[in-house]
Amino acid sequence: MRVFLSVFCASILFCSPCFTLTPDEALTRLLQGNERYMQDKLTHPDRSYDRRESLLTSQQPFAIILGCSDSRVAPEILFDQGIGDLFVVRVAGNVVDPIILDSMEYAAKYLGSCLIIVLGHENCGAVKAVMAGQTEDIEAIAGQIRPAIKECKKDHGILQTCVKANVHHVVDAVKQYATIKKLLQQNKVKVVGGYYSLASGKVEIIP
Ligand SMILES: [Zn+2]
Repeated sequence: MRVFLSVFCASILFCSPCFTLTPDEALTRLLQGNERYMQDKLTHPDRSYDRRESLLTSQQPFAIILGCSDSRVAPEILFDQGIGDLFVVRVAGNVVDPIILDSMEYAAKYLGSCLIIVLGHENCGAVKAVMAGQTEDIEAIAGQIRPAIKECKKDHGILQTCVKANVHHVVDAVKQYATIKKLLQQNKVKVVGGYYSLASGKVEIIP
């Protein structure tokens, strides 16, 4: 079935695992993978020779992950997914700018990815640096995080609250991007925020 879909999908636009998955089912698939990771019961799916062969001429990642560059937060590992499953964009503080939005747009529009997760994490150094005002080396990133930090300081500036506030801020920015906004209106994509706990390995979907 997978080989058939791959050959079929190579010839038309918008064909992807989301051809058969809804955005909610895509989210369930990711959270099930995260549960396996948490329980230390990884299955390492989609890493075989056949999988590699099936992706030679096309790719159909079912989800887009915008995550932090932090070495402890690797999406394919913590969601227990394989090659071709996730379209990943990583930058310190999981911020967005036009280049990053263009990358996400490409996957949503042309690869058919139907789920976008903006993934913040425990003890994020970029957010922490902005809270501490120590941003001389990361000014371009800090400028993107500061608006979210302003709001969270009302909540005594707790780091976890600020990380989640930053995720909310980025989720809103992604949802406002013209192409993604259109796909949202057509129910072809879902955009959610997540928070990853370094200690437990759990990804919590932020309401
Ligand atoms: Zn981080």
